[in-house]
Amino acid sequence: MRKLLSGLLASFFAGLMVQAQQNNIITTRDYPIEYFRSPLNITPDASGTFGELRSTHFHAGDDYRTQQRTGLPVYAVAEGYVSRVRVQIGGGGNSVYIDHPNGYTSVYLHLENFNDALTNIIRAEQYKQKRFDVDVMVDKGTLHFQKGDVIARSGNTGASGGPHLHFELRDTKSQHPLNTQLFGLQFTDRFAPTIQGLMVYDLGENRFNEHTPRRPLSVRAVSGTDYKLSNNAVIPVNGKFGLGINAIDRHRAGGFQNGVYSIELFIDGKPMSTVLFEELDFNTSRGIHSYIDYAQWKRSKAKYQKSFKDPGNPIEIFHHLPNDGILELTDNQVQT
Ligand SMILES: [Zn+2]
Repeated sequence: MRKLLSGLLASFFAGLMVQAQQNNIITTRDYPIEYFRSPLNITPDASGTFGELRSTHFHAGDDYRTQQRTGLPVYAVAEGYVSRVRVQIGGGGNSVYIDHPNGYTSVYLHLENFNDALTNIIRAEQYKQKRFDVDVMVDKGTLHFQKGDVIARSGNTGASGGPHLHFELRDTKSQHPLNTQLFGLQFTDRFAPTIQGLMVYDLGENRFNEHTPRRPLSVRAVSGTDYKLSNNAVIPVNGKFGLGINAIDRHRAGGFQNGVYSIELFIDGKPMSTVLFEELDFNTSRGIHSYIDYAQWKRSKAKYQKSFKDPGNPIEIFHHLPNDGILELTDNQVQT
C-alpha cells in the first residue's frame, strides 16, 4: 500500500514539491493484522483496489485476479457464521457474507458456485420463492465455517468484466467497507504512485462548479518519488483557491492502474487537507461526483481528486480539513 503525499504551493507561488510515497501509512484506528487469511491460495495480484474511482462510486473492496480463469477455491478468511448468501443476475452475482466474532464481515462476490451447504440454502429459497434471484439473510447459528474452509469457487458472475474475486471486509455493525490491506492482506506493490498532473482552481468567492477557472499544471519526476512543475515556474494565486491531483498507483511494471491510499496537502509544513481511503459508506458513495473534478473528467478523462470539499458533499474520506480545504494566502511570500 502506498501513501501519496503532496507537499505544495505558494502565493505568487512557487517552490512546489510533490512526493509520491509508499510508506508512512496513516490510519484512524488499529486493525487485527494476523486474524484474516487470504481468500485465495495464489499470490495476491490486484486488478482493482479499495477506494478506486469508478464512474458512479468508490470501489468498496479489492479485486483479486484469478489467473484468467474461474473455479479457484475460495476460502473463509476466518471462522464465523454465514450471515447472507445471494444469487443475482447483475451486481455481485453469486455472493457470500460471513460474520466473524471480532466484529468484521467478509464478503465474496462474482462466485462461480457455492459449496454444498450454501447451495442447499440457495436452492431451498429459490424453490420457496419460485425465482432465480434470491437474497437470503441467514440466521446466526445456521452455518459455521472454520478459517480456511472452502466456501465457493471463484467466478465471473453478475456485473463482472472477467474472472476475478471481489473481496471486502466490513464493519459488521455499520456495514461500512474497510480497506482490506490495513488488515495485513497486502498486494505486493513495488512502485511508488505516479503523479500525472495537478490543477489549480481559482475559486474566488464562488462555489466550485463546472465553470470554475482551472489551471492545469504538468509535473515531471525528478526522482522515484519527487516531482516538480515541468516548467519550474512560479504560480501566481489571487484570493481563494483549491488544488487537485491526478495520481495512480501501479503495483508492478505493466500492472493495472490502481488507486492511491492517501493524499495529504501541506503549506509551509502545515497540513491543509488529508484524504484517506480507509473506510467508505455505501450511502454516500455517490459523493464521488463531488470529490473528483467531474466536469474535467468528462472533458479530458483525467481524474483530478480535489483537496477541498464542496458544501454538502457527505463523503467522509477527508480527515483533516480546515476551511474545507479551501486555501487563501495572505502575504506575497513564496510558500512551499
Ligand atoms: Zn470489485
